[in-house]
Amino acid sequence: MDRIARIDLHAHTNRSDGSLAPAALAKLAADAGLRLLAVTDHDTTDGFDEAHAAGTSLGLEVVCGTEITARFPGRAMHLLAYGFERRERGFSDMLAEIVAGRETRNPKILRLLAELGRPVTMDEVRAEASGDVIGRPHIARALVRKGYVPDTKTAFTQLLRDGGPAFVAAESVEPDEVVRTVRDAGGVTVLAHPRQLRVESAAGLAAVVEALVRDGLAGIEVDHPTQPPEERKVLRALAERLRIVASGGSDFHGDGKPHVRIGEGDGTIAVPYETWEALRARFGAR
Ligand code: AMP
Ligand code: ZN
Ligand code: FE
Ligand code: FE
Repeated sequence: MDRIARIDLHAHTNRSDGSLAPAALAKLAADAGLRLLAVTDHDTTDGFDEAHAAGTSLGLEVVCGTEITARFPGRAMHLLAYGFERRERGFSDMLAEIVAGRETRNPKILRLLAELGRPVTMDEVRAEASGDVIGRPHIARALVRKGYVPDTKTAFTQLLRDGGPAFVAAESVEPDEVVRTVRDAGGVTVLAHPRQLRVESAAGLAAVVEALVRDGLAGIEVDHPTQPPEERKVLRALAERLRIVASGGSDFHGDGKPHVRIGEGDGTIAVPYETWEALRARFGAR
């Protein structure tokens, strides 16, 4: 085989807002010829065991990850985590706290929707989810089912998008605390899709990343479907300057993002196994 082994370090299952069950995600990744898949659901590791069992029987290496929602002004910061001890108390308590934050946030979003003349109940939202982590994509699906909007994309652009009329910022943990808590559990963090922070200047973004590197941030996501080539160049240079890992992934969600394919995203993503090795080399830096 002369093809380089590809991996995917960013993918969601129906334990958060993806559409596929964990075993189905592992099967898709194996069929796509990937060597390794990281399951990175929002704020949970619930999908890992099932994906790992399915992947193992198919010759696919499945590793445990999560995409942690941290506080950031006007939006949220997403921090991918890998290599942590899942049962370490500080780590599991932090995820529980963030999921609890969602449970106070979701009703606030529903209150805004009711004021906007689109009432939806929490039960109707829960019916759109297969796991315990519920967020805006599930609310978007409920809005579609009620006939208020034609599709989930419209639900976001009209109502739920960051800063939109029905937006409520995530109640969560500060990014530096996330980075340190994951490190204390033996793992590493990677800043997901930095462009989505919408920091105005490159210098401003660099300052945000530099501060997190001082707490132990191991990398930034350079190759992500939402980041254009020019942006990736800037981010790759930043990673090199700060001596952190230039990571990447598809951010596969299944039906929720039909244009994104496992392993290749929009066709521009091709992450080598070496990226995983570079991250793994930083595990256990307590
Ligand atoms: P939440 O964590 O509840 O705020 O939901 C965030 C998730 O919603 C993201 O991970 C995406 O999957 C999805 N999302 C965010 N913005 C949009 C958008 N404009 N259109 C479609 N999906 C979005
Ligand atoms: Zn998502
Ligand atoms: Fe994300
Ligand atoms: Fe994601």
